[in-house]
Amino acid sequence: MAETRLEEKPMTAPSTTALAEAFDRGFDGATTTPESDRYEEARRVWNGAVDDHPAVIAHCRGTDDVVAAVTLAAAAGVPLAVRAGGHSVAGFSSCDGGVVVDLAPMRGVAVDPHRRRAVVQPGATWADFDAATGIHGLASTGGLVSSTGVAGLTLGGGIGWLQRRYGLACDNLRSAQLVTADGRLIDADEALLWGLRGGGGNFSVVTSHVPRRLAITASSVDKGALEPTQILDIDETCAVHGGSGNPSAETLLHFEIVRRRAAGAVLHTHSVWSTVLSDSHGLDRGPATEGYEMLKGLDGVRTHEHREWVPIVPNDQDMLRLARVVGRTLDEHPSAHAILLQRHGIYTWGATLADAVRHVEIFEFLLETMGRTRAYRLRGGYDGPAQGS
Ligand SMILES: Cc1cc2nc3c(=O)[nH]c(=O)nc-3n(C[C@H](O)[C@H](O)[C@H](O)COP(=O)(O)OP(=O)(O)OC[C@H]3O[C@@H](n4cnc5c(N)ncnc54)[C@H](O)[C@@H]3O)c2cc1C
Repeated sequence: MAETRLEEKPMTAPSTTALAEAFDRGFDGATTTPESDRYEEARRVWNGAVDDHPAVIAHCRGTDDVVAAVTLAAAAGVPLAVRAGGHSVAGFSSCDGGVVVDLAPMRGVAVDPHRRRAVVQPGATWADFDAATGIHGLASTGGLVSSTGVAGLTLGGGIGWLQRRYGLACDNLRSAQLVTADGRLIDADEALLWGLRGGGGNFSVVTSHVPRRLAITASSVDKGALEPTQILDIDETCAVHGGSGNPSAETLLHFEIVRRRAAGAVLHTHSVWSTVLSDSHGLDRGPATEGYEMLKGLDGVRTHEHREWVPIVPNDQDMLRLARVVGRTLDEHPSAHAILLQRHGIYTWGATLADAVRHVEIFEFLLETMGRTRAYRLRGGYDGPAQGS
């Protein structure tokens, strides 16, 4: 079996012009390329710090256009990004030198008030959704800011005004039609739908401790639309023994955590609050919280009086160096249950996958509580105990 190592793949991407010509021939919708007058405007996403320069922005008007754009990008072997509301803080909806599938022209929302169902096109925002459902006196859990995309927010879980009563946005997802990475149009079955309800980041489960082997999600695939083959069987040298696709460059971090914590599963997610809080403390002073009942869900914690401190590690593209820093940080802070990568996301772990999932949920709760408490305090509207230093 061929071994895949963690090395940059040699790029044999076609020239920008060749890609644009392939789109001229095979894509019916409008495109924007670096030569277009509107390019600067068209490549912009919500996070102004994201400065990617896609080779082609394919403005899709329907499913056929999406299939064509995905197929052309796959054939050319260039990166592909999907953009709906464009609010990904991490910049996932753009890419350098590849194709952006722009779904913004597909913003229809059809409401069946009798069945209490809405069929939502992939580029619709919550403003579109609320306008269509509101006239029937209906609503669903959506974002707090109406310019976020329905699909992007739902794929990330989706918290919003109605969540306490009706659950997360993803809890209300009933069916989905997908274009797969190889350009097939499919209806999500139950298993795939389960995966779509809030996927992201990268996830690994230890399949053997001696020798160490991980089952880890493949890089650059939508974790909400994983096929079983996209879960890779991988050893400590990052050689792939099963599955298709490349391991994430961050695989080394998973192994480092497994080694230092004897973890059975490692989960890495990118959420707004973990990213915001990873950037609002000095590196030597990560966010800390105490007094919450939720803390008792962390392994080994018996009382809400526990103080949990989450170390922050600067993000780094040199994975060997980053893995060393993560290892040292874990050794220096043996009681930490999670670690934040600055402006990136959170890593947490557990003896089993269920433990690791519980930790993700607890940290998302705690980090959001810290962030919101701090915001209220800044506005002078919070007079409770000081939390989330
Ligand atoms: C100002 C602001 C407010 C926010 N408020 C909330 C909030 O209240 N609640 C909350 O839960 N989150 C909130 N978020 C986070 C937000 O939900 C995520 O950033 C979400 O991913 C944005 O979705 P989007 O479609 O706007 O963004 P995009 O950047 O277009 O997409 C985000 C990700 O989803 C993928 N994606 C989008 N559409 C599709 C599709 N149709 N098919 C396949 N993949 C797709 C993209 O490729 C990308 O990886 C907020 C973010 C910002 C910047």
